[in-house]
Amino acid sequence: STFSGLGLDPLLVSHLTSKMKITKPTAIQRAALPTLLSANQEARDVFIQSQTGSGKTLSFLLPIIQDLLPLSTHSYIDRSIGTLAIIIAPTRELAKQISDVLEAILQMRLRPEDQPPDATEDSSRLTRWLVSGLLTGGSTRTHEKARLRKGVPILVSTPGRLLDHLQNSSSFNVGKCRWLVLDEADRLMDLGFEETIKGILQGLDGRRRMAIKAVQDGKSIEVGGWDWERRRKTILC
Ligand code: AMP
Repeated sequence: STFSGLGLDPLLVSHLTSKMKITKPTAIQRAALPTLLSANQEARDVFIQSQTGSGKTLSFLLPIIQDLLPLSTHSYIDRSIGTLAIIIAPTRELAKQISDVLEAILQMRLRPEDQPPDATEDSSRLTRWLVSGLLTGGSTRTHEKARLRKGVPILVSTPGRLLDHLQNSSSFNVGKCRWLVLDEADRLMDLGFEETIKGILQGLDGRRRMAIKAVQDGKSIEVGGWDWERRRKTILC
């Protein structure tokens, strides 16, 4: 099967092929993409389980970008909308890796018909509209707050720093957040982040109801006390 056959937008397919030399979906991508790409408001939480190196990062990044794509191509995103997707990784290194992949995809150019009439090289790139941000405690809190105030549609963060901002940055708007990914959720738990994650889930305070759906067979990870019904789409890798 192909990325197109799995429902990936032609714009993304051609960017993957020509710029990232990625042409054939891996097993986890074949398993996860159809579900995640078709996910609508009724969609349930999703678990993904797969080995490191299996291509799981793209299996959640591509659906997130495709979901947010109409915001940039059709209505030029108003960044005051706040953060729309949050990806949590257990370590700074992992968060940075995810952020790098995300940036590579966001280098994609919009279709000519979706570009503003006065499009420039810069404004025709998705990075102009779907800004991503990395929060890992590597820069100062003040600096991060300022970035969040400007609006970061897609955020990659380590858990502690994210909770810190949810609790202390009034300009961090997550009211419209529709994706939450817990990458390497088992490691997050092993590293003792369970309480932090619970705090984050509280901070996101989703009112839309979602249940749980397992994409790939595998042992789901039990996290005691999570209020799953309040979650949006949760992907565990
Ligand atoms: P991950 O498991 O997400 O850490 O990905 C491992 C590596 O596989 C990364 O370097 C990706 O760029 C690469 N990769 C992901 N998907 C594909 C694919 N469909 N074809 C070739 N390489 C891929």
